[in-house]
Amino acid sequence: MHKPEYYDSFSCSAGSCPDTCCRAGWLIPLDSETFDLYRTVDADISENTFTDPDGDRVFRLRPDRSCPYLNPDGLCALYIKTGGRLCEICSKYPRFFEEYDGFTETGLSVSCPTAAALILTRSDNPYRDLKRDAPDELLGFLCRARERVFEMIYSDTDPDAALQKLVFYGAELQELIDYGELGLLSEADFSGALEPVANLSEARRFILENTEILSEKWRELLKSGCKAPCGSPSERRNYLAYLVYRYFLKAVNTEDVFTECRFIGLLYRLAASLCGNYAEAVKLVSREIEHDSENIEALLGYLSQTE
Ligand code: SF4
Repeated sequence: MHKPEYYDSFSCSAGSCPDTCCRAGWLIPLDSETFDLYRTVDADISENTFTDPDGDRVFRLRPDRSCPYLNPDGLCALYIKTGGRLCEICSKYPRFFEEYDGFTETGLSVSCPTAAALILTRSDNPYRDLKRDAPDELLGFLCRARERVFEMIYSDTDPDAALQKLVFYGAELQELIDYGELGLLSEADFSGALEPVANLSEARRFILENTEILSEKWRELLKSGCKAPCGSPSERRNYLAYLVYRYFLKAVNTEDVFTECRFIGLLYRLAASLCGNYAEAVKLVSREIEHDSENIEALLGYLSQTE
């Protein structure tokens, strides 16, 4: 299992959390083993869950979209009643796992404010010791390319410029993939004519009209935004690297690294344009987009049509 350097430092803030995930508005699937356990300690568990259209048993949210078991102290009533048992999804959160041919990567999601604080405050590259090669030719190519991207991001003082270099590099890599010339990776570089990431106003409109929106705050920020980019250069650099860690290798499934780079660029630019509090902005982008596979699919489709 490969992980960034900050991974093992995470510890849930529980009742002290400034914005608990139990209020994120997500429909959390409850695995059957934990459901059976919860039935022994809570008579209302059947009433407080329902089967969603995918056939999963999920928690029925309160009108304010919080979990029915979130207690006034910001703690999980079921966790307390069972002496420390959470369902599978809740026990893993905010960790995410990506399975690749021959290895697994895990990380922390910036949708959790405690994890975001760990990620955004890094002063150096926490992604140094990741997989550098793989038996699959395309995956090995992407691993080596990503390593160069991390080095570039952490050696460039301007993360906005680093983003443009990333997108340009993504276009160069895409040509090598399309022409079956993976052996020429060292010839791809970061300098050249800048590739546009996306028209931000149009992208916001697309998100408003075509994705599921959980919170009114997100809707309002998408409509208004702010004029000056938010976040310090260091925070933006760490967020860019987080996005690269989370999405760059996914191109092994689509053979479309250019669209992945533009997707990374879109999330980066959205967060920088939302509001004065950068940690709040990246949390919202993550909760509303990253944690909804249909929203991600919609945005990837949008980007591939607007090249
Ligand atoms: S958002 Fe993060 S720190 Fe807060 S309760 Fe959830 S896992 Fe814990």
